[in-house]
Amino acid sequence: MTASLESQIKEQAHRLGFTLVGITTAEPPPHFPVYEQWLAMGRQASMDYLSDARVRAKRANPRLILPECQSIVVLGLRYTNPGFAGENEEKNPLPGQVNGRVAAYAWGSDYHLVMPEKLQALVKFIETQTGQAIPNRWYTDTGPLLERDLAMRASLGWIGKNTCLINPQHGSYFLLAEILLVFPLEPDAPFETDRCGSCTRCLDACPTNCILPDRTLDARRCISYLTIENKTEIPENLRPAIGNWVFGCDICQMVCPWNRRFAAFEGDPALAPRARVPNPDLAIELSLSPEEFNRKFKDSPIKRAKRNGYLRNIAVALGNIGDKKSLSILEALSQDQEPLVKEHIAWAIDRIREKKNSESDA
Ligand code: SF4
Ligand code: SF4
Repeated sequence: MTASLESQIKEQAHRLGFTLVGITTAEPPPHFPVYEQWLAMGRQASMDYLSDARVRAKRANPRLILPECQSIVVLGLRYTNPGFAGENEEKNPLPGQVNGRVAAYAWGSDYHLVMPEKLQALVKFIETQTGQAIPNRWYTDTGPLLERDLAMRASLGWIGKNTCLINPQHGSYFLLAEILLVFPLEPDAPFETDRCGSCTRCLDACPTNCILPDRTLDARRCISYLTIENKTEIPENLRPAIGNWVFGCDICQMVCPWNRRFAAFEGDPALAPRARVPNPDLAIELSLSPEEFNRKFKDSPIKRAKRNGYLRNIAVALGNIGDKKSLSILEALSQDQEPLVKEHIAWAIDRIREKKNSESDA
């Protein structure tokens, strides 16, 4: 018996490295009203592109992206589980080092560069199987789609209280992607069970209390937003809660029992961690010139924060760690050419001096 086209697509997706694959229809995503409410409350912070009227209309209806769309293939590519590698590395820093932490999705190459090749290969496979060129669109987080909603409807998992898509066999360390197709495929059954139950670990662990009861989060307070998408100062009242995170934050995923029990260690090889990225030596990072930053983070998601934002974050982490040995480095670099970096270095210096003074008074 010949395997159905749906099964062939799924098998090929697995061969290309996707752990998760499911199929849904092009119907409007069920949680669009929650998204609209989230925007109305201003919780998208400075990410104005999310509230653009044309983009919103497309998010509400995938057929405004591809009018003949009949099916959407939703895929999940696994990245490294930070509960294994990150914690171990951090517990054993080199002598004299003061280390930061980077969200695990950013430990290797930028997924925007890794995914297209795989998605194009899957489209090519579908065209070969059907014997025709097929109008399609594919996206990995850059498209106007409610990705997690579509993933849930394609059977991949449920949206947890931490707002991530969680798969019961594999956890949540996934990057999602979608392929819109113009012919009908048998959709998978939506994932309808909420497996969070009475657990509240992510809500309890979030350092800035930004996870909201309706499974959204207030980006204005989320460390991931503050250290990546935010292009200006980090509000002073939120700086202490950032701890030593210098690009993103994984706390609400690291505490999740579904990741602690089931998420595999290794992600896709194309996203393999690069040396010294997960727990960077903050003294070295703070000294990066614009050229060194561009060289070091070529093809890395960290490039998105630009040197300005990354060094701002490094300064905050150094201030939070409060190691007296960092003072001389911060003082030596306190005249950085970028006002944003300079202001955050000044804050870190004040914080460490205050700590030093209170210790000597005690
Ligand atoms: Fe909270 Fe960090 Fe999760 Fe943002 S990423 S919701 S700050 S735990
Ligand atoms: Fe759900 Fe608990 Fe995981 Fe949060 S930590 S997403 S409540 S299972």
